Amino acid sequence: MKKIILTGDRPTGQLHIGHYVGSLRNRIKLQNSGEYDEIYLMLADVQALTDNFDHPEKVRENVREVALDNLAVGVDPEKSHLLIQSQVPALFELFTYYMNLVTVARVQRNPTVKSEIKMRGFQASVPLGFFSYPVSQAADITAFDATTVPVGEDQAPMIEICREIVQRFNTIYGKTLVMPEILLPENKASLRLPGTDGKAKMSKSLGNCIYLADDPKTVHDKVMSMYTDPNHLRISDPGNVEDNPVFIYLDAFATQDHVDEYLKDYESLDALKAHYTRGGLGDVKVKRFLEKVLQETLEPIRKRRAILEKDPGYVEEVLRQGTEKACEKASETLQRVKDNMQMTYFKN
Ligand code: ATP
Ligand code: MG
Repeated sequence: MKKIILTGDRPTGQLHIGHYVGSLRNRIKLQNSGEYDEIYLMLADVQALTDNFDHPEKVRENVREVALDNLAVGVDPEKSHLLIQSQVPALFELFTYYMNLVTVARVQRNPTVKSEIKMRGFQASVPLGFFSYPVSQAADITAFDATTVPVGEDQAPMIEICREIVQRFNTIYGKTLVMPEILLPENKASLRLPGTDGKAKMSKSLGNCIYLADDPKTVHDKVMSMYTDPNHLRISDPGNVEDNPVFIYLDAFATQDHVDEYLKDYESLDALKAHYTRGGLGDVKVKRFLEKVLQETLEPIRKRRAILEKDPGYVEEVLRQGTEKACEKASETLQRVKDNMQMTYFKN
């Protein structure tokens, strides 16, 4: 069986370092491993509209921004198809058929949907489009026969619903759809990177992000004003590294090479943590180290982005070709689905 990847982003804003460690970094590694037969990266503009329907211009602008972010971190159009969801009509036909296979109660129990409804203040009146997006996402995944979905931890309940749809569909209509697996980042700190404000998740919607495209000064300012351990008031106080975003970011980004280069007084990140826990180590010193690590990681991404920004024609061509390939693939799946559902009426 072919190994196929489907993953993507909502074009609701530029991508941030949470996306980088939660999804993009893995995406590039898998792309370059040569182990996958096909890779589809979706700019989920229709999903983005479900909670931004009153701001279509925001979604439109960010399709380009998110495409640039992907190309800047190393997505190679020779290996990965970058596609725009709304331009692949087969996805929405699949979505319609899958809606019959999921109950309202099942979506209501989905913890990610629950917390997103709360975050958006939708409790009183959740739009049906937003509520049903997990089903739409199942169409996105299965349309490409994806075996592997590399995403952050918040997506686990979505993949679970998708797997249930595949199971039900295949039971009712005969083996048609491929069962996908989630692939989470190996690095634990990367599963769900917290915000610079200490909130549980860095998220475009919460405004607590360090963006991949932020300039060096902005990164400096954001790191220096990051939330740390609120009880670590004096340098001599013992500190907590567990729920401290500065240390969580270090866990997600810092390598032993970084420690050797920038932290001459410490053998390892663990030694730095032990000192902070004991007391006697100030936040500023730790933040300065984190800033160096982040600047070093972001600098090549920024440079590539600046070059790509000057060539809008290239980005458009990448999206056009990726979308074309996606349309071919999704149409084949849709044909299989309709055949097995006895919904094909005319021979061609
Ligand atoms: P929105 O608030 O519009 O939903 P978002 O910041 O949650 O935006 P998405 O486009 O929904 O971003 O997510 C894209 C991918 O990035 C998904 O795989 C998701 O799991 C991952 N991701 C998003 N935020 C984080 C984070 N803070 N830590 C780890 N992974 C993340
Ligand atoms: Mg999200």
